[in-house]
Amino acid sequence: MDIRCNICGSVKDIAPTHKDYQSVNKNPNFPYICEYCGRKIQFELQKANDIYKSSTQNPPQAHHVRSGTAEGSEG
Ligand SMILES: [Zn+2]
Repeated sequence: MDIRCNICGSVKDIAPTHKDYQSVNKNPNFPYICEYCGRKIQFELQKANDIYKSSTQNPPQAHHVRSGTAEGSEG
């Protein structure tokens, strides 16, 4: 059965053993996403998640404390 990727539009022939076969058979409008696009989406989600995490986990930078060295000079 021919199935069209919902993202890139590439047509793929899937076997009855394919996990999405039954879903597509019942519903021709089933949003099928090909392996390539599925991986791409997962990657984008992970990237967005990483950005979100790093922006929320970063504590506010403390002001740099000047280290004053007290040197006693005998004169
Ligand atoms: Zn695709």
